[in-house]
Amino acid sequence: MPTTAPEVRVFHRPAGWTVLALSPDTQDCTTNHMPDNASLPPCTDTAVWKVVELHDMHSTVGFWCNSHLPDENRHQARQPAADHYPARPPPPRHTTTPPPAITTRAITTPPQHHQNRTP
Ligand SMILES: [Zn+2]
Repeated sequence: MPTTAPEVRVFHRPAGWTVLALSPDTQDCTTNHMPDNASLPPCTDTAVWKVVELHDMHSTVGFWCNSHLPDENRHQARQPAADHYPARPPPPRHTTTPPPAITTRAITTPPQHHQNRTP
């Protein structure tokens, strides 16, 4: 039977997480280790979230600051965030302002600012 989704456990620790096997310091935000974010300034926030994914033969662990915790993991944590942060760095494909719509039906007469008749 295929197991598509690993079991995920999400933990929160306000002071951040330390993995002594890796480093005596608290862990960086995982976004700093993602190649896709190499061009972004490093995240210096405390990685307060630990996300453990339990696969069949191994497990992975990631650390996220509050603003970078993926939405799906935030839901799994069942713990409301103190504030609403953008979930992740804005992807380049996301355009906040759509281009001005050009519709052939929207042609109306220009606004008439001058209603005074010239003598
Ligand atoms: Zn971060």
